[in-house]
Amino acid sequence: MKLVFATNNEHKLREVQNILGDKFEILSLKDIACVEDIPETADTLEGNALLKAKYVYERYGYSCFADDTGLEVEALDMAPGVYSARFAGSQKNADDNMQKLLSDMNKINNRKARFRTVISLIIDGNEIFFEGIVNGHILETPCGEKGFGYDPVFKPDGYEQSFAQMNANLKNEISHRGRAVARLIEYLNSIEA
Ligand code: IMP
Repeated sequence: MKLVFATNNEHKLREVQNILGDKFEILSLKDIACVEDIPETADTLEGNALLKAKYVYERYGYSCFADDTGLEVEALDMAPGVYSARFAGSQKNADDNMQKLLSDMNKINNRKARFRTVISLIIDGNEIFFEGIVNGHILETPCGEKGFGYDPVFKPDGYEQSFAQMNANLKNEISHRGRAVARLIEYLNSIEA
């Protein structure tokens, strides 16, 4: 069965295809010649993931899933959340975003935060959501060079390293996205294709 992953991120795509084996053929936006910018105008992660999946389902007729991720900081009323990519402005710069986060949290003692990924799957017209969460803390200063986004300032609970100090395998195993994808895959493996 063909299933579109509404992303242009080759790395995410390969990761999911490898775990699913050949029961599903995962197609990217490029594979279905969807080159337009899909609007992400909702104010929740669920809303944006659903917008992307629906866009493909309605215009291209494929069963489809899409993901959206945000960093949710307790002391900032769960901001930046759905605005994580453009927290410091439309230039979507990771260093600017981290600097803004550290400055907004200056003198704040409660540093609890979590990454949350939502996946919206539309399969044969049914809408299903999967969620993955990793709890942790925002560090006072960036640590580590690996990963991307807010990785240098996020330390997951139960570990001494920031996400940016971990090797990719460990991060994928415990991360928000890894957990959401694992739930999606468990579901896909449980249904008849
Ligand atoms: P997306 O929905 O996967 O594009 O993620 C939105 C934004 O959340 C990214 O631009 C990053 O700023 C942040 N983000 C998502 N996942 C991660 C992660 O694993 N580490 C650090 N930042 C992340």
